[in-house]
Amino acid sequence: MFMLQEQLYDAAELVQHARHIVALTGAGISTESGIPDFRSPGSIWQQHPPVNYRDFLHKPEARQSYWAIRHSLTKRVMEARPNAAHQALVELEHRQRLLGVITQNFDGLHQDAGHAPERVIELHGTSRFAACTLCGAHSSMSDLQQRIDAGEVDPRCSLCEGFLKAATILFGQRVPETELARAKEISEACDLFLVIGSSLKVTPASTLPRLALKRNVPLIIVNLQPTTLDTYADVAIHEKAGVILPRLVNGQ
Ligand SMILES: [Zn+2]
Repeated sequence: MFMLQEQLYDAAELVQHARHIVALTGAGISTESGIPDFRSPGSIWQQHPPVNYRDFLHKPEARQSYWAIRHSLTKRVMEARPNAAHQALVELEHRQRLLGVITQNFDGLHQDAGHAPERVIELHGTSRFAACTLCGAHSSMSDLQQRIDAGEVDPRCSLCEGFLKAATILFGQRVPETELARAKEISEACDLFLVIGSSLKVTPASTLPRLALKRNVPLIIVNLQPTTLDTYADVAIHEKAGVILPRLVNGQ
């Protein structure tokens, strides 16, 4: 317990002195809002392995499996609300200390918490919209889900006939270049880098804290499990983000 106090003290000091903070968030920040971490044991991806992008495009059965998984997810994402960790990041923005939030999540909870939309960079897209896999046009996700629920198989884009899916990134699909460029840009400009609820196992997100480390910018990691960069972090805390973040932002 004493060690945690000391870590909190050190981390809160770093937060207090920083002026241009970047936060990278992963599934761990949203589990406290009731959204399961797909990679964790017993999760939905262990029961139904995630569909990869190539299969989605080429195999009707992969698209059907995609929609079967989405059905159970959509409701949970719709019902989820931001938690204390999301709110703490908004507080940093209000104090004009936040360059931006880079997120691996597609649940839209950072936006719901109240960030200015341009402060949030969604590396893995968003499940709030549907997107055409061919022309990229966005459309309403709830309309698309209704079509699926009503029994439509393989819904197509009304503009170009491409396959429709949520505007999230599947395995084997590239992270959008604009988002990645913006994420790199702020990672190279920050004076404190926070990793929250990410085990740093997925590239390119996992490479971003290294851009800060290269410039000797302090790194704080708050994640339930150890990460590959814990040894390089100034402070690595293995506790819940919703408990720790407010304490870091409000001076423990
Ligand atoms: Zn299209």
